[in-house]
Parts: sequence; C-alpha cells; structure tokens
Amino acid sequence: MLDPYKLRKDFQMFRNKTQMQEHDLVFLDNASTTFKPDCVVEAVDQYLLNETSNTHRGDYDLCYNADVKVENARKSISKFIGANENEIVFTSGTSMSINLIAYGYAGKYLTSEDEILITQAEHASNVLPWFKVHEITGCKIDYIPLDKDGRLSPVSVEKAITKNTKIIAVAQVTNVLGFVIDVKEICKIAHKHGVLVVCDGAQSVPHMNVNVKDLDVDFLSFSGHKVCGPTGIGVLYGKYELLEKMDPLMSGGGMNAKFDMCGDVKYLNPPSKFEAGTMNIEGIYGLKAAVEYVDKIGRNNIAEYETHLRKYMIKKMREVPNIIIYNENADAGIITFNVKGVFAQDLATYLNSKGIAIRSGQHCAKILITFLHEVATCRASIYFYTTKEDIDAFVDALKKGGDYLDAYFA
Ligand code: PLP
Repeated sequence: MLDPYKLRKDFQMFRNKTQMQEHDLVFLDNASTTFKPDCVVEAVDQYLLNETSNTHRGDYDLCYNADVKVENARKSISKFIGANENEIVFTSGTSMSINLIAYGYAGKYLTSEDEILITQAEHASNVLPWFKVHEITGCKIDYIPLDKDGRLSPVSVEKAITKNTKIIAVAQVTNVLGFVIDVKEICKIAHKHGVLVVCDGAQSVPHMNVNVKDLDVDFLSFSGHKVCGPTGIGVLYGKYELLEKMDPLMSGGGMNAKFDMCGDVKYLNPPSKFEAGTMNIEGIYGLKAAVEYVDKIGRNNIAEYETHLRKYMIKKMREVPNIIIYNENADAGIITFNVKGVFAQDLATYLNSKGIAIRSGQHCAKILITFLHEVATCRASIYFYTTKEDIDAFVDALKKGGDYLDAYFA
C-alpha cells in the first residue's frame, strides 16, 4: 500500500504552515482541486525562469526547445490515458474540453431530430454545453434514470437509448455521489446503436487507471489541477477521425495552414487545429510533470489506498450523531453528507474554524438536488496524500460540533 506520509514530503503545502493557516491544514476538498508536488512547481519554474519562449513560431533554440518540450508532454499525457499523441488536445480544462465537443461536433452535426442523453448527477460542465447544443440545433436533451442510490447502470443506458440518440455524455466518476460507472460496457452498448460516448474524466483520471483505447470511448476530458498539475490546463482526448470531422472552437494563430483575403482557410490537422493562440506553455510543462509523478505512484495503488481510506472514513463518520451519508455504497474517495438540522455551509464554516477544508453547497451538480431532495450537502474528498489522522481530526471536529452549532442535536 502506498505511504501517504512519505508522499506528503513532496508537497510544500504540507511542509509549511502558511500565514492563512492557524491550524495544521486538513485538506478534504480534493475533488475540487489537488496540491502540487515540488516536481510540478519546478517544471513550471523551469519554463518561466530559464526556458521562456513561444511555441510553433520561432527559428531559434529557445523556441525549438519549447516545441520539443510541449510535444514530449503530449507524449507523456497520451501514454497516461492510452491514447495516440495526435489525439491529445491541450485545453484549459474539462469545461473547455466538453464545450469544444459541444460546439465543434454536436453543434455542427446534430439536428432537431436528434437527442443527447446525460444524467442528473452531471457537473455543470457536462450539462450546460449540451443545453447550448439544444439552443443551437433544437435537439432534445434527456436524462438516463439513476438507480435508487444514484448509480448509473449500463442496463438503464440501453433502455434510455432511442433511435434518435446521437450522444451519451456521462462522468466516469460523478463529483458528488462518487460512483464509478462502467464506461467500457456503456461504450459497447452505445456503439451497437451508433451513438457516441463523451466521458467526463475529471474525477476518474486522477484516481484510477483509465485507458481510452480499452474503454473504446469516443471523447474523454480531464483537468490538470485535479491530478496535481497547474490550473488552467487540461486535455481533450478524441478519436482521431472524430477530431478531423470537428470544427475548432477558437480560430487564430497556430491552428491554420493558410488563409487568404477571400476568407478561404485551411486548418492544420488535429490536434493543432484546436490549439489557437499562444498555449499555456508553463501549464503544459507542469501537467507533464504531474502525470509522470502520479504515474510513478501508480493509479492502481492510488485506487487501492483510497478504497481502504474510504472504508475507514465511512466507519468513523457513522459514529457522528445525526449524520446523514448520501453515498455510503459509492466507490470513489468522495463522501457526501449532512448533519441533521445543520445547514451545510454552517457546518463547512465551523470545520474551517478547526482547520478542516471541505466543500459545501451543490458542488456544481445543480440538478442532482432534485434527486437527493436536499438544497445543499457537504462533501469530503480524499487523495493519495490524505492520512488517517486527517480523517480522525475531521470526525473528531464533527463530533464536537454540537458544542458550537445550536441545531446540531435538533
Ligand atoms: N466535471 C466534473 C465531474 C468535475 O468534478 C469538474 C470540476 O469540479 C469539472 C467537470 C470541471 O472541471 P474544470 O473546472 O477543471 O473545468
């Protein structure tokens, strides 16, 4: 089993108390973002301090160097998810990746006859872009029913597909309930009906082995900052033939082969076609370092550790009076809960006063509240550097909450 104590030594956020922290920080908001190990900071620094130049533009050594580094990063990232290098598009994150598919593919090819299937458990980034496609094309958006716990089964996917379904867009791991869905089986079913599968990998890629070729998924996106990388950098994977058919979301320098005064434009081949403008080069350097770091730990090891810690967390949390856990039977290191009679944000604010960072609210999954029948929930989420002591401090603070929160034992 991996050793979180050893791994924490790689993170400045764990080494020093910052001025903002009165207490040792217990960080349980890893579904929101993750800490960055030294190697990521050093990689970003390397670009900013020693290797600054633009890519794909210059005829001098600094530029050649950055070109090579960016393409090496693409290579590392393609290996990380089992893709071909030319199927990796650098984006600003999952949100941009899904928007790219929505506008560049669905907006172009779908009509008012067509239908896109999503679920009630999706993050806003995997709902709102499809609403836009509905606005543009008139296509229908429908919801595949979840089971009573909130899990999506391949059987309900098959039942929900109609002759009009063109796209199924689902998260491999949902960000509130934390169920891991069977993307491979869903792809098999979808492809049998000629339907494309768009997979939101924001909460899966950092935590478990994901191989796009094995899944046979058509598109998959993830964000750098949730996998120990910098913010503002992410990835869209798409099967090459689909990327070729897709329109770019943004036009500009670096993505065209030629254009003339009559408006005739020839785009470069994917992935360059989708990478208009100066890239987030330091972000790409950082993301390369991040995926290599996480790969070295091993995502099978991360998944094994998180499963073990999740069990411990559930067992400890059950000791808290009046606790409601919404996803006891889920798979990922995301636990969503409330304490009866306490507003979620009050609980998160109280925990903050004890140096414990969790998330409260609707977690960008605003249509899930009609499934949970709760206006707001609290979410504690772990990563490979979370320790049992973190969980103990969290549960201890929850147990003592009654001293501070009037409604606690209501
Ligand atoms: N999808 C899921 C499941 C997420 O959890 C998130 C972020 O929380 C996103 C998409 C959006 O990611 P980003 O804000 O990095 O674009």
